[in-house]
Amino acid sequence: MMKLNLLTPIKRRWLSILTALCMSVSALFCITGCMGDNVLTTPITVTDYKLNTYVRISSYSNVRKEILTDALKLCDTYEHIFSRTLASSELYKVNHKETNIISSELATLINIGLEYSEISNGAFDITIGSVSSIWDFTSETPRVPDDNKIKQALSFVDYTKVHLTENSDGTYTIDMPEGTCLDLGAIAKGYIADRIKDYLLEHNVSRGIINLGGNVLCIGQKKNDTDFGIGVKQPFAQDGSSLMETLSINDSSVVSSGTYERYFYEDDKFYHHILNPSTGYPYDNELWDVTILSSDSTTGDCLSTVCFVLGLDKGMNLIESYEGVEAIFMTSDNTKHYSSGADKYLSRQ
Ligand code: ADP
Ligand code: MG
Repeated sequence: MMKLNLLTPIKRRWLSILTALCMSVSALFCITGCMGDNVLTTPITVTDYKLNTYVRISSYSNVRKEILTDALKLCDTYEHIFSRTLASSELYKVNHKETNIISSELATLINIGLEYSEISNGAFDITIGSVSSIWDFTSETPRVPDDNKIKQALSFVDYTKVHLTENSDGTYTIDMPEGTCLDLGAIAKGYIADRIKDYLLEHNVSRGIINLGGNVLCIGQKKNDTDFGIGVKQPFAQDGSSLMETLSINDSSVVSSGTYERYFYEDDKFYHHILNPSTGYPYDNELWDVTILSSDSTTGDCLSTVCFVLGLDKGMNLIESYEGVEAIFMTSDNTKHYSSGADKYLSRQ
């Protein structure tokens, strides 16, 4: 049966022009709606004490505050996977032999840790847990542990004895000797910052800063043509607020590792929290700080500790071997040493 067309050819033509016009107006609206990102001059910010540190998430994109609050909750989610000290965490259960089946997320971070342990030839070693758990740098009255205890604990430090096998259901089986204790404290914050960034990007935050206790990850630029200004703390500054450097950063990570983060004195001797896996005592390598600039924060957090343990020369060589990663080392004579491409991030007035 033939369809009746009630419109005259002229009316039909007008109708198609009108339809085309409506379509292009709505397309234009969609394009400006998607791209015209509503940049705030004062960011929306949430802060809390999590992961044993001060966490701050700020968005310069105009989104609901709940998105940031939910992003903050990811710190708890990941603490329940990666914490060495939280009795309910997945890692705690692995270290206490309550399970040897682990999630793919825990396996991912352990694998990253094993890779950097290998790169550093064991100067960085994620099985340092048996030793780091007897040093307590967060205590009100920290003390140097008994030397025999340190020696005993050292016998369990060996990353080459940790093996992961993938299971058919996506979980992993971890195999490591009795007494081995994994410590992901040097790398977890970077990984968590990256996951928080993924979450925020999925929820239309295209400009923002994630700060996990000085482990900083920027999303996009602050506004068009303006980068984020990130200050790196001056180690051991009396006022606690002086900066050793101010950096201009967009869509990148800035992570520092240093002796000044957690330390104490006993009998006038200085003890800090980055430990030498061959002695069980803090590294004594004339470094105060290593700051890494990289696109992702997992790399930044891993390399900041790895470069610290390698020392200035080997650490700088390692950085130069990576594309797109820069570093600033500060030695204990208060001198800064820059990698070859670090210059472009320095904001010098
Ligand atoms: P922070 O956690 O203070 O930002 P780092 O990222 O440099 O600093 O990590 C320090 C943490 O790394 C320590 O608190 C401990 O959990 C862990 N650690 C200490 N020594 C070593 C080491 N030799 N290899 C691997 N991890 C280490
Ligand atoms: Mg680190």
